[in-house]
Amino acid sequence: MKVLVASFQCESNSRAAYHPQKEDFEYFKGEDIFKKLAVKEIFEENGITVIPTIYAVALPSGTVERHIYEGYKEEIMEVVRQHPDADGVYIFFHGSMEVDEIGSGELYLLKEIKKVVSEDCLISVSLDAHANITDELPEYADIVSGFKTVPHTDQVACQERAARALCYCLKNKIRPYTYMQRVPFLLKNDTLLTAYEPLKSLIAETVALEAEEDIFTANLFLGHCWIDAPNTAASTVACATSREKAESVAKDLANKLWATRRDYKFLIEAESPEECVDRAIAGKEGRIFITDSGDNTTAGAEGDTTEILRLFLAKAPKKKTCVAGITDFDTVNALWGLADGEEVFVEKFGQKGVIRAHGEILGWTKEIIGKSLCISFGQVDAVFTEYRSAFIEKGNFDVAGLDLLSYEIVVVKLGYLFTELKPFADRELFALSDGASCVELERLNLKRIIRPMFPLDDFDFKA
Ligand SMILES: [Zn+2]
Repeated sequence: MKVLVASFQCESNSRAAYHPQKEDFEYFKGEDIFKKLAVKEIFEENGITVIPTIYAVALPSGTVERHIYEGYKEEIMEVVRQHPDADGVYIFFHGSMEVDEIGSGELYLLKEIKKVVSEDCLISVSLDAHANITDELPEYADIVSGFKTVPHTDQVACQERAARALCYCLKNKIRPYTYMQRVPFLLKNDTLLTAYEPLKSLIAETVALEAEEDIFTANLFLGHCWIDAPNTAASTVACATSREKAESVAKDLANKLWATRRDYKFLIEAESPEECVDRAIAGKEGRIFITDSGDNTTAGAEGDTTEILRLFLAKAPKKKTCVAGITDFDTVNALWGLADGEEVFVEKFGQKGVIRAHGEILGWTKEIIGKSLCISFGQVDAVFTEYRSAFIEKGNFDVAGLDLLSYEIVVVKLGYLFTELKPFADRELFALSDGASCVELERLNLKRIIRPMFPLDDFDFKA
């Protein structure tokens, strides 16, 4: 028996300006894909030959342009066409890849694969907990396994579950049934955390269900609100030995998930940008962080909004303040030739500043990707970067030539603070700001989602 293996992922944000290009995908081909995937040993232990294709994974960005998508899709299809007799296919997707002119990139690829492989070939997929599941997915995926943690820490276990279920079904000649139930809500991603109730108990229930003999997987998908598409919503998906079982498990989980819709709250102070700025200035804590959640570069946003910087400039705080990581290629390059300590009038803010530090910015895998320039406006240090970047740990401040410990207020373009920054934060404020990753559904102006949708609409739902 043989199984084809691939991974093709990009979490899309249809409000984000930057579309990922070919080089934005971390890429491996052939055996090298197993540096990144955890399934090879499982298939081999079961006596199944593994046929690798490619691993192409990009960080959250704007929608994927069709020609970029087609390039990677074709690389996968080339190998699929060489093995039309494959017994199984395993793909690690994200589940929220939106491709221009195509829609769900995951569904499109599965449809292409189904045209080539035999009727009996089983397809197993792993998905992020923020996957927006399409109604048609169960027709093309025989096994679906989603992450059980947010923030995500169980990527390996999720892959292993999908691979083990595929091995079991192949060896025992079982055709599993997949049932998907939409749950018509779109909640603030940052309030849906699996370590806390009510999700903690619901996830525990899926684990208990999977221990039952006739259930392969039971999944909660929490939805991803930054894609304007008909499949954007939460959902539940169950895979079992019979259609009736899969359907009853998915529907029961869906009703329970729906019942919790009003129970999700922020764990920290979440306020308007102005309120956050005021609270940070007045706060007594040693170091206060504000996260500019609407312009969160780790969620695909550009990182170029200046709303919070402008609020600080207007309020001219006495506290040492750092606003880190504003994407602004022109400012960095126009002023790069000035020396540290030189005065400069920055037209766009109508203020005089002093060049404070020339530095560098790090990419997602910690390589240097460009320059940063810090300009001081009174007590406020504004850090401009040539390209989109994310200040997720102290190292980002170090290479930008800044001493994180010298600041009393720090603004970063994230949702929740990354764990690496938490030790430096005596207090955390979550700014409900505008931008591509705005968490307020009412402000997203989604036109293509299926209504009614909670919390935009108040209505009853039963699966
Ligand atoms: Zn996710």
